Amino acid sequence: MDNIRVLVNGACGRMGREVVKAVVAQADLELVGAVDKVGQGQEIGQVCGLGDLGITVERDLAAALRNTTPTVVVDFTTPLTVMDNIKATLEAGVAAVVGTTGLTSENLEEIAELAVGMGKGIIVAPNFALGAVLMMRFAQEAARYFPDVEIIELHHDRKIDAPSGTALKTAELIAAGRVAEPGTKPAPLEKINGARGGEYLGTKIHSLRLPGLIAHQEVIFGAQGQTLTIRHDSLDRSSFMPGVILAVRKAPEIKGLVYGLDALID
Ligand code: NAP
Repeated sequence: MDNIRVLVNGACGRMGREVVKAVVAQADLELVGAVDKVGQGQEIGQVCGLGDLGITVERDLAAALRNTTPTVVVDFTTPLTVMDNIKATLEAGVAAVVGTTGLTSENLEEIAELAVGMGKGIIVAPNFALGAVLMMRFAQEAARYFPDVEIIELHHDRKIDAPSGTALKTAELIAAGRVAEPGTKPAPLEKINGARGGEYLGTKIHSLRLPGLIAHQEVIFGAQGQTLTIRHDSLDRSSFMPGVILAVRKAPEIKGLVYGLDALID
């Protein structure tokens, strides 16, 4: 079987550099392109501390798609540009794996339609860490018994979107898992605006942004006389790579949108 040709978009970023390293370590994957808004003309292997790989960083995704003819684009860029990147990728007839967060449900509908129209596959996952996928599953299961729950998500201070895509996805799964409504709460007297967090589908979400953190989440259920806490910690960005590599291998085989890593791991 031919190697899967991979272009990494956002290749000089924290996640992109990790993806480059993970891709070149796989015998069946071939890194063919690296795109970023920064680092143009630099050798991507040097940027990632791997030595020369013979691939220079390009700035223009559309041109790079034409020049490098990838099978799959992996996108870890920013919530502000991810939709444009996805459209350029699918319209070029290339499959996509997207870890960039910040996509809305309207965005996902549009992406699904475009992918089906182009006959290409796209995998969007708000969290590629297996432990985070299990945390979300366990939270959905627990919501069946404990409808009252709040989410605390903690990320590094350079993350620009809040709440995290993982927190939103967890709240969606909790809403799907509940068989009873959460208890009615007294109207809050919020002495500081936002102290009670944001609410999505009946679940409060609190977002912390601090230096030193990577990606962490606690889902705390409360019931009479007890609480249940489900917590996941990504201590290193390498935690996301097995999920990204799995998605890269699956993306060329599918048509349309797959949302969430959980759909791929059974
Ligand atoms: P980062 O270090 O800021 O890296 C993003 C890189 O993409 C930067 O070099 C940025 O350049 C570049 N970029 C921005 N717009 C671009 C464009 N239009 N075309 C090409 N490159 C572009 O961020 P990160 O920590 O790697 O995170 C990237 C995204 O992944 C975020 O949305 C984050 O929340 C998400 N994430 C997802 C997962 C998951 O498992 N799904 C895990 C971790 C992070 P500039 O610095 O010049 O903007």
